[in-house]
Amino acid sequence: MKPNYVENSHPAIISKEMFESVQKEMKRRSELRDFSDKERRTKYSSKYPFSGKIICGNCSAVYRRKRWGPTNKYKKYVWNCRTREEQGVDACDMKAVDEEKLKAAFVRVANRVIKDSDGFIKKMMGNIEKVLNENKDEAKLKIIDSRLAELREQITNLIRLNSRSSIDSDIYDEEYNRLVLEMENLRSKRLAYTKTEMECKNNYSRVREIEKILNGHEMIKRFDEELFEVLVEKIRVISLVEMEFVLKTGVVVREIL
Ligand SMILES: [Zn+2]
Repeated sequence: MKPNYVENSHPAIISKEMFESVQKEMKRRSELRDFSDKERRTKYSSKYPFSGKIICGNCSAVYRRKRWGPTNKYKKYVWNCRTREEQGVDACDMKAVDEEKLKAAFVRVANRVIKDSDGFIKKMMGNIEKVLNENKDEAKLKIIDSRLAELREQITNLIRLNSRSSIDSDIYDEEYNRLVLEMENLRSKRLAYTKTEMECKNNYSRVREIEKILNGHEMIKRFDEELFEVLVEKIRVISLVEMEFVLKTGVVVREIL
């Protein structure tokens, strides 16, 4: 027989410690995630305007800048798929892209955007609204919240039960981990909703900024680094001659080199 003197005494004492350890673990994990995000950002920090922005349409790798040509007189710079560069043609057969051609392509894209700035602003706004509407699902949020409350109660009960009658530790751990994992998954799902909403709000003000810059902007004759930074999220290489310029807020412009 198990001693039952714990019954009805202070079941909350252990649960508080347990909850704190769960909180700590969750915090640790989220910090790990933050760190790798930060790391990713610094890795692709913009040394050149195209750094970190050209993506392979074949394998999704980021492109890297490379010098071509034997002498200074004939040198030029190209951008190459990282997979192809590191693992060869068999891994990815996307060919290198000439930097000057990319710059010229952006000049054409930018001029199209400047010429029809109202149309582009409208499209950008439309994109944000679409994401915002898809994200707005109060019913789903309610389901998540009530399940979270249920889980919280289940964990408390489990801990309480364990403190009273010490369940087999394997069973306890398994059950405990299952509940905590589900809780963590739901929490990050919930966080994603809030994050999207915040991103949309940020995007609104971003589009307003873009609008200000585009209004009255003259057509450009040569590559404009600032305008590129303002307008372009990334360039997806579809083929040697076809590029997709993904503008901020997701509007896509196709361009032939
Ligand atoms: Zn590739």
